Amino acid sequence: MKQTWVKPFLTAHRMGGMNKFGAVRAQNHQSDIDGVEIAPLLEKYGSPLFIVSEKTLRDNVRRLRRAFATRWPKVRHGWSYKTNYLAAICNVLHQEGSWAEVVSEFEYRKARANGVPGSRIIFNGPWKPNDILELAAQEGATIHLDHLDELYALEQVACKLGKQVPVGIRLNFDTGYTDSWSRFGFNLESGAAKDAVQRIAASPWLKLTGLHSHIGTFVLDVRAYSAQIRIMTDFMEQVERDTGCVIEYLDIGGGFASRNALQGMYLPPDQIVPSFEQYAEAICGTLMEATKGRAAAGKPLPTLILETGRAVVDDAEILVTTVVGGKRLPDGRRAAILDAGINLLFTAFWYNHEVKPLRPLNGIAEETVLYGPLCMNIDVVRASIMLPPLNVGESLVIRPVGAYNNTQWMQFIQRRPAVVMVTQNGEVSVIRASEQLEDVSGLEQVPLALQQPFPQGIPA
Ligand SMILES: *Cc1c(COP(=O)(O)O)cnc(C)c1O
Repeated sequence: MKQTWVKPFLTAHRMGGMNKFGAVRAQNHQSDIDGVEIAPLLEKYGSPLFIVSEKTLRDNVRRLRRAFATRWPKVRHGWSYKTNYLAAICNVLHQEGSWAEVVSEFEYRKARANGVPGSRIIFNGPWKPNDILELAAQEGATIHLDHLDELYALEQVACKLGKQVPVGIRLNFDTGYTDSWSRFGFNLESGAAKDAVQRIAASPWLKLTGLHSHIGTFVLDVRAYSAQIRIMTDFMEQVERDTGCVIEYLDIGGGFASRNALQGMYLPPDQIVPSFEQYAEAICGTLMEATKGRAAAGKPLPTLILETGRAVVDDAEILVTTVVGGKRLPDGRRAAILDAGINLLFTAFWYNHEVKPLRPLNGIAEETVLYGPLCMNIDVVRASIMLPPLNVGESLVIRPVGAYNNTQWMQFIQRRPAVVMVTQNGEVSVIRASEQLEDVSGLEQVPLALQQPFPQGIPA
């Protein structure tokens, strides 16, 4: 194989090449996904390329369900659309029994367009415009109120429809482990949540049937969930006592961590990310303990709703990107320019993704910066990684990228590339075609007077 020629240079000796786990070995590579070779896919669909593993996606959601269903009798999973709402991905999860968890009108309509009935949609979010609130109430969606104005709006909708609408409220509170996301829902400590409950109890049009909260994302400490369950079950008992309502479900939101390396985290994800079983043990154990008295009191055990997003989809998708150029930075570090940047990998701001060459590489690994193709200084895919010399045309596999990248990607000076799925039987399907210029500029309209960039008479 042809060796890469590198201009001789001197570099200062740097720490970081070694750590307490031994020498860094960046030499392992990834050439296939579920047995399907990646290189021919790049030939066919171009680079960069997102590749989803249907098998991993199904495995993940089945493991999640099993971990909880073996520990609690009534469990439901709502697939968090905003984590990745490509229709093929959503429908894999719906086929596995997951409902849709949506947070906007756009997502509600997307779920309906995917074929999900309103009765299997959980509708969260701080802004639910009136027409969609009415449709959701009509279709029997599970609606979670975020603030009082929404409560009044839903009451009017119910009055107009002439039926009592079951409703849940979103709570926020301090678990002692996570930052309290106090901008969403009703605060518990201040009494706002209790007031909302009283207001619902006083309305002939609304009926409180559920409590919801979402304590954060990438929550590594399972004790945060135990605290959440204790707080929610206490509140459940209190509102049932005060208003006579019956709480049918507790929705604990999402937030389980995926096997990704949060920046600043010292230990590798395999050592610190809890398994689904560990989350389930903490959550269901506390729930079991806190609801012991319910059967004797003639009250139902609440259904446990999970809205797990990140931990289900993240490791089911990779991004393959190709080196378009390289340079030596003034401080001696090696840099590679890739055809994918933060336009496609929004999560690179917070995570040190795993990066592996597509094929084994020769040469001595040294500290390398991976830049994207954007004309933005912040377009850094990895600030520091040990890699051998990278020739133009060499491809890298970045993972896990399934969570939040296909929804938060941006169309800035580049077209978004294709997303393909390796199906369970090893076939490859395009699930989102690569964007063409017309897809982006097709929505633009140019006033008649501006249709000529250089009208006659303008000198060159
Ligand atoms: C984002 C979100 C989720 C999913 O969170 P993950 O961290 O991806 O599991 C669930 N519920 C609500 C209300 C959310 O906003």
